Amino acid sequence: MTTDKLLATQGYVVGVEISGSGSHLSVALADLNGTLLYKARHPLEYVPDSETVLRLVDDMFAEVAAPGRLQDGRLLRVGVAVGGLVDTTHGVVRTLHHAHGWDNFPLQEYLEEKLDVPCIIDNNANAVALAEVQCGAGAGERDVLYVGLGRGIGGGMVLDGKIYHGATCLAGEIGHILVKENGPKCSCGGFGHL
Ligand SMILES: [Zn+2]
Repeated sequence: MTTDKLLATQGYVVGVEISGSGSHLSVALADLNGTLLYKARHPLEYVPDSETVLRLVDDMFAEVAAPGRLQDGRLLRVGVAVGGLVDTTHGVVRTLHHAHGWDNFPLQEYLEEKLDVPCIIDNNANAVALAEVQCGAGAGERDVLYVGLGRGIGGGMVLDGKIYHGATCLAGEIGHILVKENGPKCSCGGFGHL
């Protein structure tokens, strides 16, 4: 127990963000207090395929989690925020509406094998919602709905301090709610979505 406690107070975590088009990639190193120690960003001028994204994430991870930066412990977890539909229970990216090659991609297993560290993946709006509750605008709250206005409209819900995924992992995905019958085409292929 003592050893576990010691490790848990001296480790590091890495956060990865893959945007909905895959063209904005960020990888960051933090300590267990959430203090950002190092960050790499990689905006691309084009929409890359999934293989390109994964290769870049790999390179950025090697840069961010270089042994020289991990002086006071080991890397304990990697959290990945993805700008698409994510089945968190199974660690699978269901789809990215703005990029190809991601349908039913087992990202969690892929990264765990590649990086040799336990990984968690979730939708990026869900990840932001949780971050806001833990150390941002929603600090001290238990129930928060986060709405992100970007290229699309993302939503994430935190209930009782935890990300609420719902039965289909689509809870909080308000961007694809129908607001106008026969409205304009949405990136998901539907029509009239928010
Ligand atoms: Zn839609």
